[in-house]
Amino acid sequence: MIKEFFRKRSIHVCVVNTGGCNGCDIEIVSCLAPRYDIEQYGIYVHNNPREADVLLITGPVTLQWAERLKEIYEKTPEPKVVVAVGACALSGGIFKEGHVVGGVHKVIPVDAKIPGCPPRPSEIIEAVLKVAPKAIAMREKKLKNKDE
Ligand code: SF4
Repeated sequence: MIKEFFRKRSIHVCVVNTGGCNGCDIEIVSCLAPRYDIEQYGIYVHNNPREADVLLITGPVTLQWAERLKEIYEKTPEPKVVVAVGACALSGGIFKEGHVVGGVHKVIPVDAKIPGCPPRPSEIIEAVLKVAPKAIAMREKKLKNKDE
């Protein structure tokens, strides 16, 4: 209850790399640096799906990652929003001829897509800010239903 109160206006993001080259992850790390300072918007990045509102997925989904990604998606509490980051997460990108299932949408539902190889930090922040109100509204609705 206390946790829910303090988290009311913040968004927790869990980053999952399902087999990419780390280029997209480096751009996500840049979002945390003073230049972009994503936390000023109340967005916190960590790697715990059980605490996440938003899943930021980078890389193509490799054959080894397909089941794990489904598990992570299941572990993330409702309401949740999934954002596919980068060309690989959208379609398999440069890895699409390799041992991959393809883009994230082939394994779990995707709510937003950020193209680019890799996308710029400003584009990643813009996309997260776009889905954040949806995640907050869904969470508030859930809390309201719980109170009734
Ligand atoms: S989109 Fe580009 S930078 Fe991102 S994981 Fe794929 S190859 Fe790497």
